Amino acid sequence: MFEKILIANRGETALRIHRACREMGIHTVAVHSEADSDAMHVRLADESVCIGPPPAHASYLNIPAILTAAIMTHADAIHPGIGFLAENARFAEMVEEHNITFIGPSAEHIRLMGDKAQARSAAIKAGLNVIPGSEVLPHNDQQCRKIAKDIGYPVIIKASGGGGGKGMKIVHDDKTLKEMIPLARSEAEKFFKNPDIYLEKYLNPTRHLEVQILCDKHGNVVHLHERDCSMQRSHQKVIEETPSPALNQETREKLCAAAAQLAEKIGYVSLGTVEFLYSNGKFYFIEMNTRLQVEHTITEMTTGLDLVREQILIAAGKPFEKKQDDIIAYGHAIECRINAEDPQTFTPCPGTIDDYHAPGGLDVRVDSALYAGYTMPPWYDSLIAKLIVHGKTRNECLMRLRRALEEFVIDGIKSTIPLHQKIITQSDFIDATYHTAWLEQFLKDHEI
Ligand code: ADP
Repeated sequence: MFEKILIANRGETALRIHRACREMGIHTVAVHSEADSDAMHVRLADESVCIGPPPAHASYLNIPAILTAAIMTHADAIHPGIGFLAENARFAEMVEEHNITFIGPSAEHIRLMGDKAQARSAAIKAGLNVIPGSEVLPHNDQQCRKIAKDIGYPVIIKASGGGGGKGMKIVHDDKTLKEMIPLARSEAEKFFKNPDIYLEKYLNPTRHLEVQILCDKHGNVVHLHERDCSMQRSHQKVIEETPSPALNQETREKLCAAAAQLAEKIGYVSLGTVEFLYSNGKFYFIEMNTRLQVEHTITEMTTGLDLVREQILIAAGKPFEKKQDDIIAYGHAIECRINAEDPQTFTPCPGTIDDYHAPGGLDVRVDSALYAGYTMPPWYDSLIAKLIVHGKTRNECLMRLRRALEEFVIDGIKSTIPLHQKIITQSDFIDATYHTAWLEQFLKDHEI
């Protein structure tokens, strides 16, 4: 087992990983930018190393600085967390080249699934349904227009190297598609350093469902059930819940089996998430994330498993001890992502936290690195807290969530707590009839 793990991340993600390490008796090394000297993960870690100035490219994305910190502190493994270098295949390779274990999948799998068009081909090969669209890449503008005509409008243009809900364009007719293709290619090149684009039929309404999978180095492949992440803004998740209220048991089992089938067919090892869209009773693969997800917490609440601990054990070569039938999901869990943003305009609002009080009580969990007096630097993601609640039933969970949001105090900055309070009292949320485009429309029609 590892003695010391370097955590190549910041904020609540770094804290989440630190907590798992602590409980396993593993020492931690925090790395941080000059803007994060006072951060919670730095305060709690056994050792810390400053790796550069505030901008992420100079610190949290600075591979030589992170590797040097790992070598200097004799870390035997690196956990990349979420975002930053978590899906950088070259980083995973370089870590291993320095005889340090990368806590995640192989560089080969990161590369395969990091290219969405290739991932789509791999899913087709593994026997999964994909959304009607491009089958091969690259293709020219003429081929794009033919594909769009064949599958029918509206279509969505996606960047092969895209992620984080960015780089997608919904197009309703041939004329607009013709104009959009060069723009989409140049944006893809600019943001993702890969000009490849591909097309899919645009599904609306649809739900975003995903399945957590776990694969060890001994050939054990299991799924840890599904999550429903259909409450989104700008293609980014805002609230997640499990189990999905949109599924019957038969479809749920098929969905989870399809995810495990893909992982098995490609020989995947580590934690991962297979994402699908669910529309008109059918589910379609959209992508696979080869890392821990922000919303892994709701799966932890229903299965009782510590996913970061399992991820570390897998990287250390330990076999996963449970069989599929032993992984039972109890009750219902919901996560609200709380951002330091104006809840109406979504403008980031970093600043000093004057007062902070996290809710508590039975089945309430808060993952956050905030504390009273902490000054949030303006350089990074605006996610400041995840509120996760569990209940025996969805209704109990909703009532608990309402109560927990009422108790939450984050003073000194604006946060999206009022947005969550508004969403969860809407009948479309209570009745679970919402879909991925619901929130955008709701925000157009309502003041928060
Ligand atoms: P990213 O990796 O950038 O997050 P995804 O492929 O996971 O991109 O898609 C993010 C979200 O975009 C989905 O959850 C969904 O809301 C929307 N989306 C993606 N593809 C489609 C599609 N073909 N039809 C409708 N919505 C889509």
